[in-house]
Amino acid sequence: MSLIVQKFGGSSVADAASVKRVARRIVDTKAAGHDVVVVVSAMGDTTDELLDLAEQVSPNPPGRELDMLLTAGERISMAVLAMAIHDLGGQARSYTGSQAGLITDSAHGAARIIDVTPSRITEALSEGAIPIVAGFQGVAQDTKDITTLGRGGSDTTAVALAVALGADVCEIYTDVDGVFTADPRVVPKASQVRYITYEEMLELAAVGAKVLHLRCVEYARRFDLPIHVRSSFSDREGTLVISEAAIAARRTSEGTTMEQPIISGVAADLNDAKVTVVGVPDRPGEAAAIFGALASAGINIDMIVQNVSAANTGRTDVTFTCPQGSTAKATAALESVQSTVGFESLLVDAEIAKVSLVGAGMRSNPGVSATFFSALAAAGVNVEMISTSEIRISIVTRTSSAHDAVRAVHTAFGLDADGEAVVYGGTGR
Ligand code: ASP
Ligand code: MG
Repeated sequence: MSLIVQKFGGSSVADAASVKRVARRIVDTKAAGHDVVVVVSAMGDTTDELLDLAEQVSPNPPGRELDMLLTAGERISMAVLAMAIHDLGGQARSYTGSQAGLITDSAHGAARIIDVTPSRITEALSEGAIPIVAGFQGVAQDTKDITTLGRGGSDTTAVALAVALGADVCEIYTDVDGVFTADPRVVPKASQVRYITYEEMLELAAVGAKVLHLRCVEYARRFDLPIHVRSSFSDREGTLVISEAAIAARRTSEGTTMEQPIISGVAADLNDAKVTVVGVPDRPGEAAAIFGALASAGINIDMIVQNVSAANTGRTDVTFTCPQGSTAKATAALESVQSTVGFESLLVDAEIAKVSLVGAGMRSNPGVSATFFSALAAAGVNVEMISTSEIRISIVTRTSSAHDAVRAVHTAFGLDADGEAVVYGGTGR
């Protein structure tokens, strides 16, 4: 017997029929002799609808109240799912994040989990019940206010609970069969990946592959907890997110060592903008002043490029990317230091996309960059910025080129599957 945490995304519980289908799966898992703890997201597009509602009421709602509103979505799904399980003869009990012991800091809208004290969950388990926990929410340790973990945060709730309960695996149910070499909505010939390392998954999550919440992968890696990403619409095996050592052990025991792929995925992120600080004096301390101001404003910077002044002007341009939603704050922060930094002007460009190639095999295989850039060139994709990590190459291009770029690179690395990937829900939740 094992302890399994099962997390169901919004598309898996989008309506009454889906809720019943998921209830069946949970009851079957329990009947197979496992202990099950369930984490649910809000039904379908509920979170977006609640955000729209808030926006209609107030242009700038207090974080505390917005969190209280958004957490209502998960309360609805946990209660109806518990009802559906009861109907099937199972014993389910729903719990809010706070009741389940998800203790966070007080950063509304982006709270971090600082402790998990799931005594009510273990109690329910010991009584043979199935606890259903509302994802994406917790309670602040200091203020005792209700918090949310950021969009997509239910994944992190599930992993944090799985770690705290000592679960064997955390199953994340979504509307595709697992992790693919590209978003099947963009690349119909994307292939499913059987295993992926935490590191690769982290890079993919960070560059816009929306399969898993970034922090859930960080959390799982820290505690070496296996994540199984799979579809609630089928019974197929999904993708295991595990350590490199665990993958090597599995491949050896399966005798498939030779199949180790070089590339695990290609992703596009259309949510960033590019900001150029024009005419920055070419002297020590300028970059520190620019990025210091941005850091104080809480702006998350991704890529940075400084174009060295070729002409002898004594000035350079500094370009960086950040989330589109942060550009107003970023320009305000920079304007406040314009006189001390002495730059000339700011340019903001939201029509950019980041396209990334991720694979642990990059470390030991030469020629990956050459293949990547020739594929982009052949597809007529113009490269505006480049950044790399040990296991990732990213470029910035026009938004309009992003999907062509992904498809071209996917084909160039031989990742195209024979058949077409199935997208069951369509929203990727
Ligand atoms: N319902 C929340 C969202 O849409 C949390 C989640 O689904 O993970 O962001
Ligand atoms: Mg999600």
